[in-house]
Amino acid sequence: MADMKKFALEWIEGNKERIIEICDKIWEYAELGLIEYKSSKLLADELERHGFKLERGVADMPTAFIASWGEGKPVIGIMGEYDALPGLSQKRVPYPEPLEPGKPGHGCGHNIHGTSGASAAIAVKKAMEKYGLKGTIKFYGCPAEENFSGKVFMVRDGLFNDVDAVISHHPSTMNAVTLVSSLAVNSVKFHFYGKASHAGASPEHGRSALDAVELMNIGVNYLREHIIQDARIHYIIEKGGDQPNIVPAYARSWYYVRAPEREELEEIYNWILDIAKGAAMMTRTKLEVEFVEGCYNLIPNRTIAELIVKNMREIGTPKYSQEDLEFAKEIAKTIPREMKIAQLKKSKRPGWERLIDKLIDDEVPDPWGEGEVMHGSTDVADVSWQAPTVEFSTAAWILGTPAHSWQAVAQSGTSLGHKSAVFAAKVMAATIIDLLTNEQLLAKAKEEHKRRLGGKQYKPPIPPDHKPPLDFWEKR
Ligand SMILES: [Zn+2]
Repeated sequence: MADMKKFALEWIEGNKERIIEICDKIWEYAELGLIEYKSSKLLADELERHGFKLERGVADMPTAFIASWGEGKPVIGIMGEYDALPGLSQKRVPYPEPLEPGKPGHGCGHNIHGTSGASAAIAVKKAMEKYGLKGTIKFYGCPAEENFSGKVFMVRDGLFNDVDAVISHHPSTMNAVTLVSSLAVNSVKFHFYGKASHAGASPEHGRSALDAVELMNIGVNYLREHIIQDARIHYIIEKGGDQPNIVPAYARSWYYVRAPEREELEEIYNWILDIAKGAAMMTRTKLEVEFVEGCYNLIPNRTIAELIVKNMREIGTPKYSQEDLEFAKEIAKTIPREMKIAQLKKSKRPGWERLIDKLIDDEVPDPWGEGEVMHGSTDVADVSWQAPTVEFSTAAWILGTPAHSWQAVAQSGTSLGHKSAVFAAKVMAATIIDLLTNEQLLAKAKEEHKRRLGGKQYKPPIPPDHKPPLDFWEKR
């Protein structure tokens, strides 16, 4: 096994230039969720060129794909994302300056996400071939993590039914694997239909859809007192009428409802549906509920987390050049110290105080955060209900960098990002080889997974007829 790992790691090291090139191309494409045509094609073509069997356009998403190689059990999944964020265009400079104003940018480093995974898949395939290792590797090209939870559609279509374990990597400020869970979420739009009328001359003939939106919000804000501590409810009013002298015939709000467990979420969500119905009754308007997306809470896995940490330590964190450090120092000047401290504290990483005066994370801590929940949501969670799944992070950004910021975009497209991508690819390759060759380890991970699920069944959080909103960006 040691030889096999060495071979895979050397392959990655030897193909570093190509890995960086792909990372940079996707960074430059900076395509939004569900329309990542060039980015997904680049990764899919690369895998195909290396002998993977491609299924393109899976789960009704043209930019979703599966690239598989090998045969039989075990089946190890690798996930890669490649969607960018709107409005975050940024040059590769340590001060805010858009490449193209108003255009998308890789503020979550998904250019690295897709590249590290695909590179690991290729390296493992090369090693399996050379050493005649049995098993299957499946790279999942996962679109639209940021807006539409693309993986939930892939899970609903049964694309993860045969995997034994899934590994994923996300760039961040730390080389870490946590045992922290995430919140289950429902994203829902409430459309209210009333009747237009002259608001001055004949208000008695009007029925205000905006009143319904407002009364619903008031109802929900009273509900807040009676929800569990870790739940979250947030909303915006997307449409509230045209001008004050017309009673709004149409108004629309958009809600996110989140909670640590799916059942807890359903309970709050059903209450909110009743409030919406009540608001429609009170205002004599009509209500239409549009489900946008939903996902589960994340199931951590200590067995795989510890394995990843072991591999990270063996491989060793990246070394930085003088130039890297100069760039990092310039970026650091734009991140307030208080913000950095607050972010480190919030991570709850044991010994986080030691990192306050550090520029880049060069340590690999033990997995932490068992029993904790972060108050965001991710579609990786839905995959984690199918098989033991771990998404680890590597330091692509200096400590204190907020995700979804211009600083994250800039660093994701430069040497700091590149080094984290290569490091992550090696860690993934080594971990997958461990899982392919060590039956007991995989059995232990699966046993832990079963124990954590505690007999709970996964029911897709989206309605059966719900399709990915492929025309979302056109319609905006
Ligand atoms: Zn992300």
